[in-house]
Amino acid sequence: MRSLAVLGATGSIGASTLDVVARHPERYRVGALAAHRNVAALAQLCARFRPELAVIADPACEAALRAQLRAAGVDCCVASGAAALIEAATGNHCDSVVAAIVGAAGLESTLAAARAGKRLLLANKEAIVMAGPLLKAALRQGGGELLPLDSEHNAVFQCLPRGAATLDAAGVRRIVLTASGGPFRGRTRAQLTAITPDQACAHPNWRMGRKISVDSATLLNKGLEVIEAHHLFDAPAERIEVVVHPQSLMHSLVEYVDGSLLAQLGLPDMRTAIAYALAWPQRINAGVGTLDLVAAARLDFERPDLDTFRGLRLAYDALRAGGNAAIVLNAANEEAVAAFLDGRLPFLGIAETIERCLATLPNGTASDLASVLDVDLTARRCAQRIIAALSSCAARS
Ligand code: NDP
Ligand code: MG
Repeated sequence: MRSLAVLGATGSIGASTLDVVARHPERYRVGALAAHRNVAALAQLCARFRPELAVIADPACEAALRAQLRAAGVDCCVASGAAALIEAATGNHCDSVVAAIVGAAGLESTLAAARAGKRLLLANKEAIVMAGPLLKAALRQGGGELLPLDSEHNAVFQCLPRGAATLDAAGVRRIVLTASGGPFRGRTRAQLTAITPDQACAHPNWRMGRKISVDSATLLNKGLEVIEAHHLFDAPAERIEVVVHPQSLMHSLVEYVDGSLLAQLGLPDMRTAIAYALAWPQRINAGVGTLDLVAAARLDFERPDLDTFRGLRLAYDALRAGGNAAIVLNAANEEAVAAFLDGRLPFLGIAETIERCLATLPNGTASDLASVLDVDLTARRCAQRIIAALSSCAARS
C-alpha cells in the first residue's frame, strides 16, 4: 500500500491522479491533499479521500476550509501557508508526492519532497526548469526516485533502458519530444495579434489548466520541456529535438545508435503517464481506453515554426546560455502569461517579454535555493516593467 500527498490536488493533474488512485483503493491511500485557494473543491476531495492532512496554501482561506470540513463531518488536520505545504510534502503520512502545483509556487515543496526521500511524481516542470541541479542534488541526498508525469518525459522514460547511467551508456543518439503545435499551428504572426485568452486555452487535444494551455499555444511549454528533458536525462540541447505531431498520439521517442527509434503511443490522456509513475515498475489500469490505430489512421510530423512561436527558440537559447537564463525565462513567462490571461498583454507580448527580460538581465549562477528565488524575483520585476511598457504601447496604437 502506497500513501500519497497530492500537491495541486484541485487542478487538472490532481483530478487525473485522484481518478487513477480511486480505481485502486487496495494499492493507494491519500495521506495529504493541498491546494491554493479553492476551498470548496479541496473540501470535497477531503470528504471523498479522507486524508490525514489538508493544506490550503493561502492562510486567508484556512478558516473557511475548517468550516467546510466540519460541516461535511471530515476529521483531518488542517494547515495553511508555505510551511504547511512543506509538511504535506515531507510528513510521515506519505511515501510518494505528486508535485502538481503550477509554476514556481511548487518549487520549495518539490525540493523538500526530494530531500525527504519521497518517490517524486513530477508534473511541476517549472520547478526542474528553475532548479534542475538543486533538485537532482536533493534527490541524491534523499535517496528517493523521480518519475516524470509530463507525458513526453514519461514516454522517454518508458523508452529508455532501466538503470543506464548516461545516454551514451544506453546507446542513445537523441531524444525526440513531440509537440501538438497547440491551437494556432499553421498560423502566421499576423494572425496571432488579436488572440484572446479563451482562444489560447482551447487546446485541440488536451484539457489542462490555463497556464500550461497558454504555454502550449506559445510553444513555450515545449521549450520548458526541452530544459526539463536536459535535466532529467542529462541530455545536451543538441541531442533533444522537437517535432510537431498534431494528433498527440505518439508522446515522444528515443533514437538509439543502431538507428532504432522507440516511441510510446496512447490516447492523449494524462492518466496513462500518471498510472505508470504511480505503479512503476509495474503497470496498472489507468481507466484509459484503447487507441484504435485504424480509426486514427495517420501520424503526421512537421518541423516547429520557430519564427512564429518564438517561445521554443528562446528556451533553447536559455538552455545553451546556461546559468540563470532558465530561471529568468520561466519567471518572465509566468508574469507574461498572467498578464495575458488578465487582458493586460497581447498574445505576442508573451515571447516579447521573455526575450527582453533575457536581454536585459545579466546572467550568473544561482547555486542555492535563496539565490534561485532571488533571481526569480528580479526577473519578475523586470518582466512587470516590460509588460507595463508593452501594454501602454498597445493601448496607444
Ligand atoms: P491547474 O491550474 O489545473 O492546477 C494547479 C494546481 O496548483 C491547483 O490545485 C491550484 O490550487 C494549485 N496551486 C496554484 N498556485 C498555488 C500556490 N501558490 N500554492 C499551492 N498550490 C497552488 O494546473 P495543471 O494541473 O494543468 O498543471 C499543474 C502542473 O503540471 C504545471 O506545472 C503543469 O505545467 C504540469 N503539467 C500539466 C499537464 C496537464 O495535462 N494539465 C501535463 C503536464 C504537465 P487552486 O485550485 O486552489 O488554485
Ligand atoms: Mg508535456
